[in-house]
Amino acid sequence: MYKQILKQHFGYDTFRNGQEIAITTILAKQDFLGIMPTGAGKSICYQIPALLLEGITIVISPLISLMQDQVYNLRQLGIEATFINSTLTPADISVQLNKVINGQCKILYVTPERLMTPMFIQFAAKCAISMITIDEAHCISQWGNDFRPEYKVIPDFINRIQQKVILSAFTATATAQVKDDIIELLKLNCPRVVTLGFDRPNLYFSVVKPKKKMAYLFDLITSFPNQSGIIYCNSRKNVQEVYDKLKGKNYSVGMYHGGLHSVERKNIQNSFIQDEIDIMIATLAFGMGIDKSNVSFVIHYNMPKDIESYYQEAGRAGRDGSEAKCILLYSAQDVSAQKWLIEHNNDEFGNPIEIAPHIKAQQYKRLNDMENYSNSTKCLRKVMLGYFGEILQDDCNNCSNCNNITEQTDVTVEAQKILSCIYRMKQKFGASVVIKVLKGKSIAKYAAYKFETLTTFGISDMPEKVLDQIVKYLICENYIYKEGTRYPVLKLTTTAIDVLKGNVKITMPIVINEKRTPIIKESVSHEHPILFEQLRQLRKEIAQLNKIPPYVVFEDKALISMCQQLPQTPNQFINVFGVGTKKLESYGEQFISVIIDYCQQYELNLEDKIAEALPMQI
Ligand code: ADP
Repeated sequence: MYKQILKQHFGYDTFRNGQEIAITTILAKQDFLGIMPTGAGKSICYQIPALLLEGITIVISPLISLMQDQVYNLRQLGIEATFINSTLTPADISVQLNKVINGQCKILYVTPERLMTPMFIQFAAKCAISMITIDEAHCISQWGNDFRPEYKVIPDFINRIQQKVILSAFTATATAQVKDDIIELLKLNCPRVVTLGFDRPNLYFSVVKPKKKMAYLFDLITSFPNQSGIIYCNSRKNVQEVYDKLKGKNYSVGMYHGGLHSVERKNIQNSFIQDEIDIMIATLAFGMGIDKSNVSFVIHYNMPKDIESYYQEAGRAGRDGSEAKCILLYSAQDVSAQKWLIEHNNDEFGNPIEIAPHIKAQQYKRLNDMENYSNSTKCLRKVMLGYFGEILQDDCNNCSNCNNITEQTDVTVEAQKILSCIYRMKQKFGASVVIKVLKGKSIAKYAAYKFETLTTFGISDMPEKVLDQIVKYLICENYIYKEGTRYPVLKLTTTAIDVLKGNVKITMPIVINEKRTPIIKESVSHEHPILFEQLRQLRKEIAQLNKIPPYVVFEDKALISMCQQLPQTPNQFINVFGVGTKKLESYGEQFISVIIDYCQQYELNLEDKIAEALPMQI
C-alpha cells in the first residue's frame, strides 16, 4: 500500500535509501529516529505513514517558511494537510484545527511554541493522534548548532497526551551527543535508528584560488545560464560589490544582507524562490528556512568560518537530488578576515561582546580546519566527511582535487629545508617569516634575531608561492602543526624527524592543469533546451497564479523528464518523474499541450520517439 502511495501521490517509482525502513518501522508502530542528510527525502518517511495510520499526525517544525512549503507541496499532491502558526489569525487557526478534528486533514504542522497553549491542548484532547513527528529534532539538544529552547516543551506536550502515540524524529545533524540527546529528551521508546551519513553524492565540491576573484567569478558564472544559484560573501560590502558588478553585466541577480529592511529582504527572498531572479548574492543571513529545491550552484566568494557552516551553506544546492556545484573561491585574505571577526565579536546591535577564551580557541581551531580543507590536495569529500567522523574508502572523483590533472612531485629536499628552518628558528615564527628566511629576505622587524646567521637563510630557490604550498601540505599531512591562534607559529611534530633524517620521502600532487568545474547542468545540456525553457515558463506562470513556489508545481527533474520522454497523452504523462494522479489532473493538459506544440513546430516524429521508448519485443 505504501508503495502505491509513492507513485500515486508523489509520482516516484522507487524509495530512496532509508525511506522504506522508516515507513515500515512507523507502520509497525515502533518509534523511529532518522539521521539523514539534507535532500535525502526525510519528509516522505513520515508523510506516507501519516496517510496510512488511523488518526492524525502532528508534525513539529521550527520554521514557518519550511512548514508552509511542506503544506503547499502536499496540497499539490492531493494530500490535505494544514499548519497553524503566527501568520494565521485566531479565527483561521480555529478553522484549520476544526478541519483536523473533522477528519478532513491527516497532517498538521505546528511550531513548538504553540504546543502548550490552552487552545492547542484542548484541541489535542479532542482528536485521535497516531503519530507525533519532530522535524529538525537536533534543535532539542544544547550541543547542536541550532539549539531552540522552545523545543524543550515537546516532552511535556507528549506526556499530556493520553493515547499511545508513535514518535518519529528526523535530523541531518549526526554527532553522537546530539543523537543521544534526542533519544533521551524526547523519550523515544526503543527507537529504530537509521543513520545515513553525511555524504551528498550529487554535489560537486571545488576549491579554487583565483588571482582575481571578480574576473574569475564573471567567467565562472557563464557556466550556469538560467540556473538558480547563491553567491555567499563574508561582508555586506562584498555583497554590494559583487551585486553591482553582476547587475552591470545584466545578470538576473538579487542581494540580501542584514542591513536591508526586513520587507525588502522578504521581497527579494520571494523573488528568488519564485524563480524571478536567478542568482542571490548574500551574506550568511540568507538561507535559513529556504527549501528551494532547484539551486544548481552555491559559490562562496569568501572562505567561511568553519566546515560546519560551509557544508550547511553549500548544502543548499541540489536538494532535489540533481547534480549541483559547490565552489569555494579561496584567498589568504579570507583567513585574516575571519580572524578579525573572531577578535571583534559583536552582538546584533553592533556592540562588542566578550567571548570566553576557550570558545575563542575553539573558533580558531575550526577556522584552522577550514583553512586546511581549502588547502588540502586530497579528495575534498574525504576531507570533509573525515571532519564529521566519516571515512570514505575511495576518492570521490567528483571534486576539484580528484578532477584536476596533477603530477606527483618529489619535494623531500624542499620539505627538509623548511622543517630544518623552522627548527633553527626555534619554532617561534609563522609561515610567512619562515618562507622569507628560506628565501634570504631580511625582515627589519626581526633584525635582532639575526636570521642571516642561520644555515637555512636563503637556502631555497623555489618561488615563495610554491614554498607556501609545501608548508600547507606539510601541515595537512601532520609534519608541522600551528600553535597559537591569531598569529600562530609553526612547530614540528615527531614525524618530522623521519623526514629530516631522510627516512621518509615527501611527494605531493602539484596541479599542472586546473580543470574548470564541469560546466553544463543536465537540464541545459538536454537535447530539447528550448522546450525546457517553455516548460519552465509555464511552471512559473502557474506558480504565480497559485502563489506557490515553482518547484512545488514541478521540480526541475520533472521538467527534464518531460523533455526526455515528450509525453503527449495522459497515460504517457503519468510516467514522468514526479507526476502522480493529482498533478496529472491539475497540470497534465497544460504541459502536454506545450510539448505537442513544440514537437509540431520542430517536426519531431513522436511515433519514433514512442517506439524507441518501448521495450524490445521478443
Ligand atoms: P530532506 O528533508 O531530507 O532535506 P526532502 O524531504 O525535502 O529532503 O526531499 C528532498 C527532495 O527529494 C524533494 O525534492 C523530494 O521530492 C525528493 N524525493 C524524496 N523522496 C524521493 C524519492 N523516493 N524519489 C525521488 N525523489 C524523492
